[in-house]
Amino acid sequence: MSEEKDTQETVPAGPSCENPEEKKEDKYEKFCFMCRRPESRAGRMIELPGNIHICADCMQKSFDTMQNSNLNYQDLLRNLPPNVGMIDLSALRNQIPPDPKLKKQKEEKKEAKKEFTIKDIPPPHKIKEKLDEYVIGQEQAKKIMSVGVYNHYKRVFAPADSDVEIEKSNMLMIGPTGSGKTYLVQTLARLLDVPLAITDATSLTEAGYIGDDIESVVSKLLAAADNDVKRAEHGIIFVDEIDKIAKKKNTNQRDVSGEAVQQGMLKLLEGSEVEVPVGANSKNAMVPLTTVNTRNILFICGGAFPELSEIIKERLNKQSSIGFQADLKDKYDEDRNLLQKVTVEDLRNFGMIPEFLGRLPIIFSLESLTEDMLVQILQEPRNAILKQYRKLLEMDEVKLEFEEGALRAIARRALEKDTGARALRAIIEEFMLDIMYEIPKDDSIGEVVITREYVEHTGGPRIIMRGQEVPLLGAQS
Ligand code: ADP
Repeated sequence: MSEEKDTQETVPAGPSCENPEEKKEDKYEKFCFMCRRPESRAGRMIELPGNIHICADCMQKSFDTMQNSNLNYQDLLRNLPPNVGMIDLSALRNQIPPDPKLKKQKEEKKEAKKEFTIKDIPPPHKIKEKLDEYVIGQEQAKKIMSVGVYNHYKRVFAPADSDVEIEKSNMLMIGPTGSGKTYLVQTLARLLDVPLAITDATSLTEAGYIGDDIESVVSKLLAAADNDVKRAEHGIIFVDEIDKIAKKKNTNQRDVSGEAVQQGMLKLLEGSEVEVPVGANSKNAMVPLTTVNTRNILFICGGAFPELSEIIKERLNKQSSIGFQADLKDKYDEDRNLLQKVTVEDLRNFGMIPEFLGRLPIIFSLESLTEDMLVQILQEPRNAILKQYRKLLEMDEVKLEFEEGALRAIARRALEKDTGARALRAIIEEFMLDIMYEIPKDDSIGEVVITREYVEHTGGPRIIMRGQEVPLLGAQS
C-alpha cells in the first residue's frame, strides 16, 4: 500500500507521463525554471524545449505581464541598443539548479533516516514531566493526555496480526476559554515531534456547502508534515470549538454546520482513506491528489461547552433531591470545577450525537484558572511572558523586576476579563509598551521595578539608576 502511495507522490501526473520511457525519468522531481519550486509544491509543470520546466503560476504571471504592458515586441527588438540582445532561453540552461536529481535523492535519504518508531515516544511520566515545564496546573488533564498519547502510539505500532485490537484513543477536552487546551496540544505535538493541524469546527461544513469541507483538516495536516504522507499519518489533528457543532435544538432546517458535521467527522475519527490535494488546500484540476489514511491520526477535540455546567448542575441537583441531601439544592452553584463531573449523558444532552461521542473514548476537563495559577503562568513556564520581557530588557542591560503585588494585580485584572490566561499578555503589553519605549532613551537606568500601583494606574514603576536608587516621579499617563 505504501509503495503505491510513494509512486503517487514522486510520479506526478504530467503530460510526459503518457510516454512509458519518460516515466522512469519522472522518478526525479522537476523544478520550475523561474521560481525554483519542485513539482510536488508548485503543481504540474509545463515543459519547454531544452528540458526547461515552468510551473503554471509562473507561466500565468508571464502571460499577465505581457498582456498588461502594452509593449510592441517588434518595435522593442528593432530599437534595442547594439550591445543588448534578447535572452536566449537555452543559454540559461546552465542556471538550472545544479542537479535536481541529486537533490531529490538526498531528500529521500534524509526521510529514510527519520523513520518514526515507538522508541520516539517517551513513557507517560516523561511526557507529563515535559508538559509540566510549560503548562501550569491541569494535573489530571496532563496525566490523562500523557497516558492516552502513549497508548495511541502503542496501538499504531502494534503488530497487525494481533488478536486484540486496541481502541483508538481520540480525546475530547472540555475547558473554559484560555485554560490551555490549544496550548496543551501544541506542547504535546512539539515534544513528540509529530505534525499538528489545528482547525476550528465552526469553519467546517458538510461537503458541498460554503465553508471548508471536513476533509480539509487532513489536508492541513499534510501541509504541516511538509507533504510527507507517512509523517502526516502519525500526526495530531486538533479540532477546536467542537461545542459549536452541537445538534441544534428545535430546528426544522437542515443542520449543515452542526449535526451534519458531526456525522461527517465519524469516518475520519475512526479511520478512513481520504484523498487530499498536495501543496494546496482545495481540490482542483491543477493540483495532484494523494491518499492519507486517518486510522493512526490522533484526533483531539476541544471546546468550552458554555451551557454544559447548567446541564451537569441540573442532573446533580435532580439526583440529590431524590435522596436525603435535598436541602443542599444549590450546593453546586459555587462549584468552579463542575465540568470535571461531566458524563457522556450530559454531553448528549448538550447536543453531541452518540456516534460522535463513541469515537472520542477519552473525555476529560480542564480546571478554570485561579488567581494563583495565573500568577504562576506569568513567571514559571519555560517561555513565561515575564521571562520574555526580562530577556528583551536584558539586551539593553536593564534588569526588570515585578513586585508580588503587581503580579497579583495583573492576575486579578485577567480574571475579570474571563478569558483565562489569554488576557495576561494584553494586560502586560499595555503597560510594558511605555517601558520598552522610554527605557532605551536613558543609558543610566539600571533596573525597572513594576509596582502594583503602576499596574493599577495609580502610580509609576520604580526606576533604579546604575549605582543609585531614585523613585520615579509621576503616575502612568
Ligand atoms: P484555550 O483553552 O482557549 O485553547 P489557549 O490554550 O489558547 O486556550 O491559551 C491561551 C494562552 O494562555 C496560551 O498560549 C498560553 O500561553 C496561556 N495558557 C493558558 N493556560 C495555560 C496553562 N495552564 N499554563 C501555562 N500557560 C497557559
